[in-house]
Amino acid sequence: MSFVETIGPEDTEAHGARLAERLSSGDVVLVAGELGAGKTTFVRGACRALGVTEPVTSPTFTVGHLYRGRLEVAHLDLYRIGSLEDEDPALLADYVTPERVAFLEWPEVAAPALGPVTARVRLSHAGGDRRHLEIEVTR
Ligand code: ADP
Ligand code: MG
Repeated sequence: MSFVETIGPEDTEAHGARLAERLSSGDVVLVAGELGAGKTTFVRGACRALGVTEPVTSPTFTVGHLYRGRLEVAHLDLYRIGSLEDEDPALLADYVTPERVAFLEWPEVAAPALGPVTARVRLSHAGGDRRHLEIEVTR
């Protein structure tokens, strides 16, 4: 487990990029933390390092976005999903595949339905532009 404090979004992006260097297809990264903690910012940095050039924004009208960089990337935000039991069983499977690297914001609801997870990231507010990052790589 690594603990760091970042000062500003670029710093958090850089930590996302650093994690991305270790990722390959089929990897699943859970990104937890309060609203505005920097989950999407972290994922953006990871996506840039994976060669994604298009805008990386929080999925709002859909559960997820798919990007194509050096690898295929799925980026999910499960904020609005109360329980997977109320959803199409294929919801996760449509995004999380062995061919893609998957990043899940608000992952708690999905955790029981997921296979092995590659890394768990937790971000929290630490005042102003500071954020605490806990990064646990489980593989
Ligand atoms: P989340 O996805 O967790 O809701 P976002 O990444 O969308 O959060 O938003 C984080 C906001 O906080 C952005 O506006 C970003 O510019 C700002 N911010 C300020 N400092 C930081 C930091 N150290 N790390 C990440 N984001 C930061
Ligand atoms: Mg977000």
